[in-house]
Amino acid sequence: MSDNCIFCKIVRGEIPCRKVYEDDEVFAFHDINPVAPVHFMLIPKLHLASLAEADASHAALLGKMLVLAPQLAKEQGLDNGFRTVINTGKGGGQEVFHLHVHIIGGGNIPPMVK
Ligand code: 5GP
Ligand code: ZN
Repeated sequence: MSDNCIFCKIVRGEIPCRKVYEDDEVFAFHDINPVAPVHFMLIPKLHLASLAEADASHAALLGKMLVLAPQLAKEQGLDNGFRTVINTGKGGGQEVFHLHVHIIGGGNIPPMVK
């Protein structure tokens, strides 16, 4: 846990959020500024600044998150597919430095890479 990290504060309940899911290792909540009808984020409770800080010791946790993502997407009504995005570092457009997977869908999502 990091004292000044807003996502750690959300996990601790110090900043309110619209929670999607929680267990002992991960937490999911709706994005405050959604880019599509459904837009939530899945994060590890462990404070990991970005994917660039991940190593082999985090492999099981990251794998769990990727397996959980489609389950949560389905629970949120995303039956027709969804987009997962992980922004990494300033060059990757990351703004909050606590690793998070964006799960986005429910609207007209254009292809991102052609
Ligand atoms: P990034 O650009 O780092 O991948 O995405 C950070 C995301 O966190 C943004 O989509 C932004 O809207 C969201 N966000 C920032 N602060 C808060 C907050 O206090 N609560 C919630 N629910 N989302 C936040
Ligand atoms: Zn954090």
